[in-house]
Amino acid sequence: DLSSRLTETFKNLRTKGKLSAADVDGTVREIRRALLDADVALEVVKAFTAKVRERALGDEVNKALNPAQQVVQIVNEELVGILGGEQRKLQFAKTPPTVIMLAGLQGSGKTTFAGKLAKKLQKDGHTPLLVAADLQRPNAVNQLQVVAEQADASIFAPEPGNGVGDPIAVSKAGVEHAKQKQYDTVIIDTAGRLGIDEELMRQASNIRTATRPDEVLFVIDSMIGQDAANTAKAFLEGVDFTGVVLSKLDGDTRGGAALSVASLTQRPIVFASTGEGLDDLEDFHPDRMASRILDLGDILTLIEQAQQNFDEEEARKVAEKLATDAFTLDDFLEQMQQLKKMGSMKKMLGMLPGMGGQMKQQLDNFDDSEIGRTEAIIRSMTPAERHNTKVLNGSRRARIARGSGVTVTEVNQLVNRFEQAAKMMKKVARGESAGIPGMGAM
Ligand code: GDP
Ligand code: MG
Repeated sequence: DLSSRLTETFKNLRTKGKLSAADVDGTVREIRRALLDADVALEVVKAFTAKVRERALGDEVNKALNPAQQVVQIVNEELVGILGGEQRKLQFAKTPPTVIMLAGLQGSGKTTFAGKLAKKLQKDGHTPLLVAADLQRPNAVNQLQVVAEQADASIFAPEPGNGVGDPIAVSKAGVEHAKQKQYDTVIIDTAGRLGIDEELMRQASNIRTATRPDEVLFVIDSMIGQDAANTAKAFLEGVDFTGVVLSKLDGDTRGGAALSVASLTQRPIVFASTGEGLDDLEDFHPDRMASRILDLGDILTLIEQAQQNFDEEEARKVAEKLATDAFTLDDFLEQMQQLKKMGSMKKMLGMLPGMGGQMKQQLDNFDDSEIGRTEAIIRSMTPAERHNTKVLNGSRRARIARGSGVTVTEVNQLVNRFEQAAKMMKKVARGESAGIPGMGAM
């Protein structure tokens, strides 16, 4: 997928010292392939990679970052830019009711979204009215009724048994009803077809003209892949819309559709629909989506941090010391500081995809604040004590406890843990076990 692809690309890049034109071209080629794999429309991919290439080769490159970071930064910024930059909020009319019309293909998730939005609006203190203007399918009205009930929201629907109603008339009547009954928002659920269809577009367009909505939200299934581009363009031309709702973002889709639609229509994505339940609705955040598409910003951060703060040289020195039984509390302290520099271990773990099992469990038990206390204790020891814990008799331990503001028991615990760690690390040094030295003891 896109994420692993780019991760691979950046891994290659990371080993290079400077960003050359060849590096940039190679990377851009990979980004291009990765985006195409993620079903981002070709024209979007082309424009995107051209921009990234231009910037990566340009002067504005940030010299404080290494090549991998530079490219990630550029790619990320460009993605966020295409996705709209800032989060776009729902727009409300100055004079209620705010009319929100939904448009999109059949099955894209309009009716489900209508319920989600009604529920959310009510939670925010609004009084929404759902209007059933999908009179195409026999049970469409019924479906909206069920959704309205689940959301505990009011619904305006044509009387049953009146034959096939006119969706435009129903929409208009719905808005009128809202005005009379003082609902402050109207959500018009419209019909969709399975494919792009002239008549459907005309109907939606007519509803738009008749109800003058404040928002026309185009609902698109984020799993439809390459079709996203054409569908979005057709609705833009046929109906026009003020915002986009990405539905079914709960699947394993990386969000290629988001990039295509945002780029091709220049319309903001307002919501992400992430499941069949009425609570599965999120405000759309361009920066989070960019991370999702990339999914490697975090991975890279992790790699960089780990590299900078725990470089191999250090690890090798520690291993050598361990092998010669010269591991001291000073080394222990140094290791802890390295761990601390790496940031919250739990946070870092969260960044690692597929990270789990034993290591994760160990780290879940790991308490950052404990490092601080440990540090204080070791700092209260003399060099000789740090070098050889055997000299730590009772009075020395009491002095250390006083100096570091902890209890003698805590000093004892630390010494015990250190001795265990030293033992375990000797094993590691002999190659009997893998992992970051010392971790098991914490
Ligand atoms: P409409 O034809 O545009 O009104 O689409 P519906 O709201 O009827 O949704 C079509 C199908 O997609 C239904 O089975 C929904 O339960 C499902 N669906 C809608 N939104 C989501 C979503 O965000 N995630 C998932 N997994 N399914 C969804
Ligand atoms: Mg529907």
